Order: sequence, then structure tokens, then C-alpha cells
Amino acid sequence: MDDPVPPAASAAPSRRKVRLALLLGLLAVIGLALLAARIAGERAAAAELGRVAAALPLASSALTGVVEKQRVVPVVLARDPEVRAALAEGAGRAELDAKLAAIATESGASVIYVIGRDGVAISASNAGRPDSFVGADYGFRAYFTRALREGAAAQYALGTVSGRPGLYLSHRVEGPAGPLGVVVVKVEFDELEARWRESGLVALVIDERGVVLATSAPERRFTATRELGDPAEARRALQLGAAPIPVVPIDWTGEGFARLDGRIHASAAGPVTEAGLRWRLMLFAPVAGGIAAAAWNAALTTLLAGLLLVAGAYALWRRRRRAAERARALAEMNAELERRVAARTEELRAEIAEREGAENRARRLREELAQANRLSILGQIAAGVAHEINQPLAAIRAYADTGARFAALGNAEEARGNFGAIAKVTERIGAITAQLRGFARRGAAEERRVGVEEAIEGALALLSGRIREAGVEIRRGPLSGAAVRAGRIRLEQILVNLLGNALDALRGREAPQIRIAVAEGPETVSISIRDNGPGIGAAARETLFLPFNTTKETGLGLGLVISGDLAREFGGELRLDPEDGTLGASFTLELRRVE
Ligand code: ADP
Repeated sequence: MDDPVPPAASAAPSRRKVRLALLLGLLAVIGLALLAARIAGERAAAAELGRVAAALPLASSALTGVVEKQRVVPVVLARDPEVRAALAEGAGRAELDAKLAAIATESGASVIYVIGRDGVAISASNAGRPDSFVGADYGFRAYFTRALREGAAAQYALGTVSGRPGLYLSHRVEGPAGPLGVVVVKVEFDELEARWRESGLVALVIDERGVVLATSAPERRFTATRELGDPAEARRALQLGAAPIPVVPIDWTGEGFARLDGRIHASAAGPVTEAGLRWRLMLFAPVAGGIAAAAWNAALTTLLAGLLLVAGAYALWRRRRRAAERARALAEMNAELERRVAARTEELRAEIAEREGAENRARRLREELAQANRLSILGQIAAGVAHEINQPLAAIRAYADTGARFAALGNAEEARGNFGAIAKVTERIGAITAQLRGFARRGAAEERRVGVEEAIEGALALLSGRIREAGVEIRRGPLSGAAVRAGRIRLEQILVNLLGNALDALRGREAPQIRIAVAEGPETVSISIRDNGPGIGAAARETLFLPFNTTKETGLGLGLVISGDLAREFGGELRLDPEDGTLGASFTLELRRVE
């Protein structure tokens, strides 16, 4: 038989292999988690950059929208007849003040004012107020000088009167004989800055020098994002007076990312070129730990999934190994069981053979004993038989003598009669010897239906000589037609044994008598043989059916033993009947009845 179970020795290397696989699996999971973190981080970063890049055009157009809207105001006002009249002739200034105020309110400009050729403001939207520009000299302002020179100008600067920063957009007013003056509108970005702040974005509008102008972070205003080539020029241009411009470089942490106020921001930038400006708008959106969180999440998820997978694989492997171990144990148990069963079967076979041998020997012994018993009976009845034969022999002799005489006298008729008589007598002898021969023959083992009366008759015939000699009266109960299953010769042997014992017991008794009775039951037939001899004492009863137990000089002590044995062989039994106060002994032979 093939052994499907791997030998136990291979378990150790396989366990080592699994441990290695487990370790490799864990390393792979960690590697995968790191990779996932990296990819997730990059994705999140790209998404953040995308977000801020998407916000840039909006912020940019909001900024340019404000500039654009105000840019036309000085252009239109430069052609206005009232502005020209006021500049040329000094006429209608109060009306012009009111008009400028109305336009400023309407357009959202912070201030609108008109400056004469000499640089002194002649009219302003804030005229009449404490911070009025009227009368102030703006001759040194770049937006004034350049507009006068080039027609238009734009300058972001700190307001000298208001102290508030803003974008000054100016335009030259032409007269019939050269420039009459300049119209200026100041745009402040407070609202825009506030909106940016509210949106959570950091916006920096940087000029060509790298100085921060409009911004959502006021503390950064007028700081330089890089070293300035000419700080004095910058201070002048921005009208900052003596105040220094601190350099606060942007703290870039990676491509597109910068640290602002300790937090990482994604950034996007674009140019702003409205009204001849050369600005740059930079937007920063806080990433709010989103990238790290995404990376962590991805790493953790991958780690957990990987660990689960590894644990699952390990559990599966353990289960399969345990199942294999169980199968191996079971197979071993089965094999052991089979071995034991085979061994026990062999033992039993040997035992059976031995027992059969013993039984065979016992049967042979029994048969030999039965034969010995038969021969002993034959010895006992030989005398009777001799007597039985003597009579016919004497008769033959007499017939022969007289027959010879008849023949001599020529009386053939009488002689023939004598021969006939001789033949009849020899037939009787033949019958006796045939019976003896039959009895002496080893009893055939086969059983058949035997009539009870038939067997009794046979036994009585064998003993007829002794019976007659002893003068024993045989009394029979009513005849029975019942039959039993038995061997004919062996059944007769039992009866001859019982009758012989009775005859022995009756020797020398007064009025000896043997009574034979047959009783029929539904399943059985019982033959009882009772004599009126001395009976059997209590002590003798105990050992009656033991072999070689005899009170007779020539007895063997086997008769009852063998008779009981034969009765059991037929499925019946032989027993000594209990004493009932009458004389003698009584035996009953009970056999299975057949129809
Ligand atoms: P054996 O006849 O050779 O002695 P048995 O087994 O036939 O052997 O009988 C054993 C003994 O049982 C006899 O010796 C006798 O003492 C006693 N016995 C048997 N039958 C009778 C009987 N009918 N009456 C008295 N005793 C008997």
C-alpha cells in the first residue's frame, strides 16, 4: 500500500520554510505599504497642486477685474470737458469735486483727483474732507510725472496723505497747446484681500522687483521675496520714505510647495499684465496635512490588508498542516488497527483450527468409546444369542435327521417338507445374526426418521434371550406411532444399555419387571424404562453419568455416559428420573419428535 502521508522528518524543514515565507511576506507588506504611502502622497500632492492651480485663474481675474474696471476711469475723465475746463480755466471746481465723488462711489475707486500741470491737485473726490487731496502737491509722484511724459501710468504705492497702500492709475489731460494736467484714480484692494483671506488662501501680488504689494497677509506687504538690487529706488517707487524693506524669502520645501507660517502650502503663480503692470500673482493653499494623511491612510490600509493577507495565508497553511497531521494520525491508527485485527484473526484462526482438531479428536474418541460400548454389549448378549441359536440348530438337526430317514424310505414328499422347515429355521438364525451384525457395525453418523416402537422392538429382540432366561416380565404401555430424528443403531444402543442395566439390577429379584412407556409431547417424544430392582442410592446418583463408574464386576462404567452423549447428539437428553417412593430405578430418554 502506498503511504500518502509524508514522513514526520519533513515537517521541520517545511516549518522553517514557512517562517521564512512569513518574514518575506511581512517585508513585502511593509515595502508595499511604503510604496502605497508614496504613491498616495504624490497623488494627494498633485491633487492639492491641481486645486490651487484651479483657484489661480479666478483670483487672477478678480484682481485684473478690479484694475480693469478702474483703468478706464482716468481715460474717460481725461477727455471730460469739465475736467479740461477746470484745468484750463479753473472753472466749476466745486461741481467737478461732486462729479468725481459720484464717480468714485459708483466705480468703487478709493479716490479720484485731478492734478494741474504744476503737480498741485485742483479737484478731488474727497474734497472738503479732512483728508482732502485738493491743494496737495503731487509733482514728485512717479504716476504724475510719467503720465505727463508718456500719457498714462500705473504705480502701486503707500498713500502719503492716507497712509493706505493702493494702485494709482493716471492719465494725461490734453489741451490745445500741450498737456493740461493728469487725472488719477486710486484703487485699493482691501475688499479683494479680505475675500482671499476668507477663502483660506494666501495670495501675494509681487511686483517686478519681488516686493509684495497687495496680499491677503498684511504683515507681508512691502517685504521683499528676494534681495533687492536697489533698495532706495524701490523705497522711492513705493513711496515708503525711509522705511526699510525687509527680505522675507518664500520657504520652498519642494516643487510647488512652500512653508508659510509653519504650514505646508501648495502654490500656483501667474502673471498679471493689466494696465502695463508687470506683476505676479502667487496663490498658496494650505495642504492641511492632507498629503501626509493620505499617505498614512494608504500605508495603514495596505499594511492592514497585507497583514490580513499574510495572517490568512498563515492560518490557511496551519489548518492544512493540522488536517494533514490528523489524516496522518488517522492513517497510522487505521494501520495499527488493521495490524491488530490481522494478528487477532490469525490467532483466532489458529485457535479455531486447534479447537476443530480437538473436537475431531474428541468425536473420534467418542465414536471409539461408543464402539467399545457396543462391543461390550455384544459380549454381554453373546450368551443369550448363543442360546437363541442353539434352539434353531437343534431343530435343524432334528429336521435333517428325519429328512434323511424320509429320503431313505423314498418318501420324497416328507423329505421336501423337512428341507422347507430347515430353510425357515435358518432364516430365523439369519435374522438374529443380521441384527447382531448391524449392531456391531460402527453407527453411521447420519440421522433419519426412526419409529419409536421399531427401535424398542429392535432392542428387545437383541436382549430377548437374556430376558427369557431371567424370567423378566416386560410390560409395555400403549403403542405409539411417534417417530424421532436419530440414528437407528445408536438409538437401539441407548435402549439396549438401559434395558441391560435394568436386567442386571433385577438379577435375583422377586417378580422382576421392566416397564416401558412412551409419552408424546408437541415437540418431543419420551421413552421411560423403569425396573423394580434395588434402585440407585443418593450418593450413586451424583456420579452416575461419570465414566468408569460401575458397581459390576465385568462392567466398564461407560454405558450411561455414552448413552447420554448419543442422546445429546440427537438433540435430546437422557436423565435419571427422581425417586417417587416406588421400587427400582427409572430412566427417561427424551428426543426431538418428527412427523
Ligand atoms: P456398567 O453397566 O458398565 O456398570 P453403566 O454406565 O451402564 O455402566 O452403569 C453405571 C452404574 O450405574 C452401574 O454399575 C450401576 O451401579 C448403576 N445402574 C445403572 N442402571 C441401574 C439400574 N437400573 N438400577 C440400579 N443401578 C443401576
